[in-house]
Amino acid sequence: MIAKLSTLFVRTLRQDPADAEVPSHRWLVRAGYIRRAAPGIYTWLPLGLKVLQKVEAVVREEMEAMGAQEVHFPALLPREPYELTNRWTEYGDNLFRVVDRKGADMLLGPTHEEMFTLLVKDLYSSYKDLPLSLFQIQTKYRDEARPRAGLLRGREFVMKDSYSFDIDDAGLEASYQRHREAYIRIFTRLGLDFVIVAAMAGAMGGSRSEEFLAVAANGEDTFVRSPGGYAANVEAVRIAAPAALPLGDAPAMALVETPEVGTIAGVVDLMNSSHPREDRPWAGADTLKNVLFMVTDPDGTRRPLALGLPGDREVDLKRLEAALEPSEAAVFTPDDFEKYPDLHVGFISPVSLDGTRVLGEESATGIRYVVDPRVVDGTSWLTGANVVDHHLTGVTAGRDFTADGILDVAEVREGDPAPDGSGPLHLARGIEMGHIFQLGRKYADSLDLKVLDQNGKLVTVTMGSYGVGVSRAVAAVAEETCDDKGLSWPVELAPYQVHIVATGKDQAVFDKAFEIAGELEVSGVDVLVDDRKASPGVKFADAEIMGMPVILVVGRGLAEGKLELRIRATGEKSEIDVDHAVASLLAALGR
Ligand code: ATP
Ligand code: MG
Repeated sequence: MIAKLSTLFVRTLRQDPADAEVPSHRWLVRAGYIRRAAPGIYTWLPLGLKVLQKVEAVVREEMEAMGAQEVHFPALLPREPYELTNRWTEYGDNLFRVVDRKGADMLLGPTHEEMFTLLVKDLYSSYKDLPLSLFQIQTKYRDEARPRAGLLRGREFVMKDSYSFDIDDAGLEASYQRHREAYIRIFTRLGLDFVIVAAMAGAMGGSRSEEFLAVAANGEDTFVRSPGGYAANVEAVRIAAPAALPLGDAPAMALVETPEVGTIAGVVDLMNSSHPREDRPWAGADTLKNVLFMVTDPDGTRRPLALGLPGDREVDLKRLEAALEPSEAAVFTPDDFEKYPDLHVGFISPVSLDGTRVLGEESATGIRYVVDPRVVDGTSWLTGANVVDHHLTGVTAGRDFTADGILDVAEVREGDPAPDGSGPLHLARGIEMGHIFQLGRKYADSLDLKVLDQNGKLVTVTMGSYGVGVSRAVAAVAEETCDDKGLSWPVELAPYQVHIVATGKDQAVFDKAFEIAGELEVSGVDVLVDDRKASPGVKFADAEIMGMPVILVVGRGLAEGKLELRIRATGEKSEIDVDHAVASLLAALGR
């Protein structure tokens, strides 16, 4: 088709939108692809809508090719199914809740496991009906705490979600693999530089899960990779715990005076001058830092939690959040500390010099005490003494205290060993584009989805759930391809593949522009013709902002039979012959 820029519903902006944090957001707004309607909620303008539809088409084709069938659920859903799986509560503030005129609770769907499970339960009853994979491309609602970066994290967004139904584990594994392969094809076709990483199952429950991350400096996710092929979202990294040490070798606990040391580094420095070690200097990694959190469960219950970890590591709050989900944690406030007068900030220890336990479910405070996996039995630590201005040395795990559990949420650092021994970890950032889960029988159990097996026995169906961020993909591709002049779309996703800029006032130029556009249209190319009465400078700048992959300039050179072809992505310019214009353009489009 041919569109005229003189009538296209678009206005490019010379200024960045005030709330734009990342280039894709800035350019999608400035190029007239989207407009903000409310925080995290966007209106699609004609150019943006075309890209969205092209992403949808890629996703739809690949889902159909792998054998999934498309359905479409409402976004407005009843409460009951989400009550049965407890997600009405677990989703917490992220769920958009509405009440109908009769006072019945409803919600705007954040994801549709419950609805798909019930639909299949409604219609299917035999192993002969399985395997089955269903998908939809549908608008989702999540009242995100931090909507950001335009389409990257919206409160209303388009997702492709699919669900597989199998009779047994082998079937689920096969459905999962077919989705995984379809996702590889989808993200390859979208032109994204992506990695597949081990992921946390999070609120979905279930077991195996992987994420597809677009590699992007502005991504919100951090992932790690090793030379030997280990790859995981940092949230999912489970470090390899060192082997326990013999308790008999551990030094006895001893009290040391540590006045006026505000930080771990301060304690370490003081110890090196006042109590130097024989084997090597004291280091931050010798200290045991005890951090207190107040955890709030989805039902509102609050409970304290203490975490002991090597003092040279910070708690990674995203890893903590992922590990505790759906509960939420916040560091202890002064008010929280007031309830525990026995705890002295800066000098907290799981145990006192006299052996009295301070932290732990069995201790006087009753505060659950969990430790980093590095705190294995037999390791001795320099930690607080529960006495102001004092520390203890030789506090030994398994002898002086026993933790109530392990919590692996310390920061993962560049160069840390991969858990599988495949070399040092390298950290990078990415945008989560897709997520695939083996749900297993969690939803089928809660919602009682059973079918008859070969022996006429009722068995619970096993499920997978698979998501692609369709609207997020528009932004992720923009993020990867844009430059300091504007957007730059790959041919497959561009709203128009060719942008013809007609310059000057000569009618022959405009006639030629439309003639070439007409010929391209016959070849199935979508063309945007800038037929406006504007200066060449304005037209070139708009062509660069809007980002069609091939730009054709029809102008003064036409008198000599010459046109200029520009490749948006590379900035390459070449003079072409007007008689071979269409062939040159098709070649530039890779056709
Ligand atoms: P995130 O960790 O980014 O919040 P999620 O793990 O909650 O995402 P899923 O429930 O796995 O997301 O949803 C499937 C896909 O939907 C994600 O991989 C992502 O591409 C997309 N998606 C999720 N939340 C949003 C959002 N707020 N805006 C746009 N796309 C989103
Ligand atoms: Mg996810």
